Amino acid sequence: MAEQLKAIKGMNDILPPDSARWEWLEDTVRRLMRRYGYQNVRTPIVEPTALFVRGLGEVTDIVEKEMYSFEDSLNGDRLTLRPEGTAGVVRAMNEHNFLYEGGRRLYYIGPMFRHERPQKGRYRQFHQVGAEVLGFPGPDVDAEVILMTAALWRDLGLTVGQDVRLQLNSLGQPAERLAHREALIRHLEAHADQLDDDARRRLHSNPLRILDTKNPAMQPIVEAAPKLMDFLGEASLAHLHAVRAALDAVGVPYELNTRLVRGMDYYNLTVFEWVTDRLGAQGTVCGGGRYDGLIEQLGGKPAPAVGWGLGMERLLLLLEEVGAAPTAPAPDAYAVVLAGAPMATVLHALEGLRAHGVCVQLHPQGKDGPTSAKSQFKKADASGARFALVFGPDELAAGQVTVKPLRDGGEQLQQRLTDMAGWASGLARASAS
Ligand code: ATP
Ligand code: MG
Repeated sequence: MAEQLKAIKGMNDILPPDSARWEWLEDTVRRLMRRYGYQNVRTPIVEPTALFVRGLGEVTDIVEKEMYSFEDSLNGDRLTLRPEGTAGVVRAMNEHNFLYEGGRRLYYIGPMFRHERPQKGRYRQFHQVGAEVLGFPGPDVDAEVILMTAALWRDLGLTVGQDVRLQLNSLGQPAERLAHREALIRHLEAHADQLDDDARRRLHSNPLRILDTKNPAMQPIVEAAPKLMDFLGEASLAHLHAVRAALDAVGVPYELNTRLVRGMDYYNLTVFEWVTDRLGAQGTVCGGGRYDGLIEQLGGKPAPAVGWGLGMERLLLLLEEVGAAPTAPAPDAYAVVLAGAPMATVLHALEGLRAHGVCVQLHPQGKDGPTSAKSQFKKADASGARFALVFGPDELAAGQVTVKPLRDGGEQLQQRLTDMAGWASGLARASAS
C-alpha cells in the first residue's frame, strides 16, 4: 500500500461530530452580526508580506517569528499566509475606496496562520471571527464592539464575569505613549541587570511589550514601572470614561488592567481582552481595541477604526469545558427501504419530505440491493432519528409509507405520500423541539 500522508503539524482537520459545533458557532456569530448591522467580508488568505510588516510592526512576535512567508516561485513576490485579519480588511477597504462614503461595520470568519509551538489552544492554522468598525472616532463604537462580544458569550451560553472576564485599558495617543515610553526606558535602564534577554533586546525597540512578559523574575520591575495611565491627557481619559460608562449602564462587568497591552503596534486608546481561567496558559479568548492610525499607515485616507478578533478553537474548548457546546443534531427520520421497493419512488418521496423541512437520511443499499431490514433498523436507531420511515413494495404500490416512532413510543402509522402536507411537518417539529 502507498504511504499515507499526514496533515501538517499544528494544522487540524475539523471533522464530524466536532464540525457541528463549528457550524453552530458560525451560525450564532452570523445572527449576532445581523443584529448589530455588520456586513461580511472575505479577503484572500495570501497577502503581500509587506502588508503585515507595515501593518503589525516589525518588532512584534508575529512579524519577528510567527509568519508563514514564502517567495512566489513564478515572479519572486514575497507573500505571507495571513496571521490575522485586520490588515487585510483595511487593505481591501483602501483598495476599493470603501471609506469615502462614511464608515463601515464589517466582520469576517476564517483561518489564520502563525508558526508557533502547537499546544492546547495554540495551533499553526487556527480560526478567527473578527469585527472591524472603520471610519468612526467615538467611544460609542468602542463600547458597541465590546458589548457585542458580551452578547455573543450570552448567546453561546457562557456566563460573563465568570466563564469569561473582560479586561480593559487605554493606550492613549501616540504623543502620550511617547512620553510614557521615555519614562519607561529610563526605569528599565535603571534596572538593566535584572532584565532577561528578550527584554534587553526590546528595551529600545518595543519597551511596552516588556510589560507583557510572562517571566516571573521580572514581575517586580514591571510592577514598579511607570504606568501609561498616568500619562494620558484629558481627551484620552474622557474617551475611556465614556466606554466605561456604557459598560456600566449595560451591566457588563470589567476589570481595568493598566498593564494590558496588545501584541500589535497599531492600537491606541481603548484596548480590551476577554480572558478565562479554564484554558491554562492559552487564557485569552478574544482581544481588540482602537487602531486609529492603521488605515493611513497602510496608504489610505486617514480614518479611525476599532475592532476585535476571537480565537474559535479556544472558544470551542471553553464551551466544551463549561458544557455549553451542543452535540450534532440527529435527523428527524431514517428511511428503511425493503427489498422490492422501487428506488425511484422512494427517492421521490424523500425529496417531497425534505421540501417540507424534514431532515431525512436514506439507508444506502448494498451491491445487491437493500440490506436486511434488521440491519437497517439498527442503523436507524443508531442515527438518533425519532422516526423510521419504512418503504415496503406493497405500501409503495398503495401510495403509502409506514412511520414508526423510534424514541418516545407512540403508534406506528401508515401515511399517504400524496398527502405529505398533512403529516410531514409533524416529523420535522418533533426533532426541532
Ligand atoms: P496569545 O497571547 O495567546 O498569543 P495573541 O495576542 O497573539 O494571543 P491575537 O493576535 O490578539 O492573539 O488574536 C486574537 C485571538 O486569536 C486570541 O485571543 C486567541 O484566542 C486567538 N489566537 C491567537 N493565536 C492563536 C493560535 N496560534 N492558535 C489558536 N488561537 C490563537
Ligand atoms: Mg500570540
